Amino acid sequence: MTTLIRGGTVLSASGRCRADVLIDGERVVALVAPGDTTLGVDLAGAAEVVVDATGKYVVPGGVDVHTHMELPFGGTAASDTFETGTRAAAWGGTTTIVDFAVQRTGERVQDCLAAWHAKAAGNCAVDYGFHQILGGVDEDALKAMDELVGEGITSFKLFMAYPGVFLSDDGQILRAMQRARENGSLVMMHAENGTVIDVLVQQALARGETAPVNHGLTRPWETEEEATHRAIMLARLTGAPLYVVHMSAKQAVATLAAARREGLNVFGETCPQYLYLSLEEQLGAPGFQGATWVCSTPLRARSEGHQDQLWGYLRSGDLSVVSTDHCPFCLKEQKELGIGDFSKIPNGIGGVEHRLDLLYQGVVDGHISLERWVELCSTTPARMFGLYGRKGVIEPGADADVVVYDPNGHTSIGVGKTHHMNMDHSAWEGFEIQGKVDTVLSRGSVIVQDNQYRGRPGHGRFLPRGLSQYLG
Ligand SMILES: [Zn+2]
Repeated sequence: MTTLIRGGTVLSASGRCRADVLIDGERVVALVAPGDTTLGVDLAGAAEVVVDATGKYVVPGGVDVHTHMELPFGGTAASDTFETGTRAAAWGGTTTIVDFAVQRTGERVQDCLAAWHAKAAGNCAVDYGFHQILGGVDEDALKAMDELVGEGITSFKLFMAYPGVFLSDDGQILRAMQRARENGSLVMMHAENGTVIDVLVQQALARGETAPVNHGLTRPWETEEEATHRAIMLARLTGAPLYVVHMSAKQAVATLAAARREGLNVFGETCPQYLYLSLEEQLGAPGFQGATWVCSTPLRARSEGHQDQLWGYLRSGDLSVVSTDHCPFCLKEQKELGIGDFSKIPNGIGGVEHRLDLLYQGVVDGHISLERWVELCSTTPARMFGLYGRKGVIEPGADADVVVYDPNGHTSIGVGKTHHMNMDHSAWEGFEIQGKVDTVLSRGSVIVQDNQYRGRPGHGRFLPRGLSQYLG
């Protein structure tokens, strides 16, 4: 089956050009300049499927390297399955996700990974890979790291938060980093001082401060900056690279940026919620509404200027990736577990569907360039996690994961408008985007077109990943 995407402007991380994209089967085979007849005078006539991209951008499919489908958390589980979550991703132009398999203390890492494979296999609309969460670093878990690298699981997430659930102490972090240094894998860090946070939480509850806003107030920026600094020092000590997930405090990113100036292999990720939303406006909404935006790290105060600074760090390159940390919970029966006690609100925001749109609005608003948009949403995440060449770029030999994006289109985000995630509300309700995902292809198959979903569960395949392409 041959497909021609005709008449559009092809964007990459490094530039833009007018070109038609020729796809054979699952791969891109050629970019053809308009009027070029090297491959024949009537390419469109010869192709079995023609997608008209006139006046539109043709961009590599989105790569979201931070999702939590079906994640068990706080007595419930994230409301998107791999089926519903990857379908929503497809609607929004994300054609690759990297989700997190979870291991807790006492569990065998390989068994946990097998459980995640079982959840995803046959259910995904788009391609998927896994990182491995290590919630119990011990001798067996350290050995498992080497084994998993051989199976294409080349990144391991540790937590400095959630004592008793996920937290690794500094000694455990050190040992995992030493192992990563040896086997070439990448350590991802949830950098918040969870021991301190738990004390602040208990003190707030004892004072009767139970509303959702206290989730943010008990996770002040100092707890993120301190943990980020400590993680960087341990990375420096061991020589291991480090990737800090979902950064929201400007002070933490400043610390990361300073380490990068010294030449350390430390990388930062942020998420759309930290760029657009705030502690005052969302987390502090009246009554229990703020629960919608309870996530960790928390939304930060706009009065402190975090949001503007994060956009700046995206421009300077000190933040490398924008992912969603998609971790959806319904308000009813899920977020509501925390009525009267903010610490029982499941942590997470659903957003896997909206990342490309929200970051495109950043282009419209003048925060980032078109090329940086592609780089942050697709190229760098692919390269960071060993998928580049196959994902993250439109060039001969790459998987034909392609989004036709219409800069003259419009997207109204919200339930009953564009909302395909399995949630009873949207954290992004009311956001208006001056652009629209028009057509989405995954490995050569059209999965979204004309406002119709044409994909299917099981089309998406597991992606064994190589080592980070920033480090080799
Ligand atoms: Zn996460």
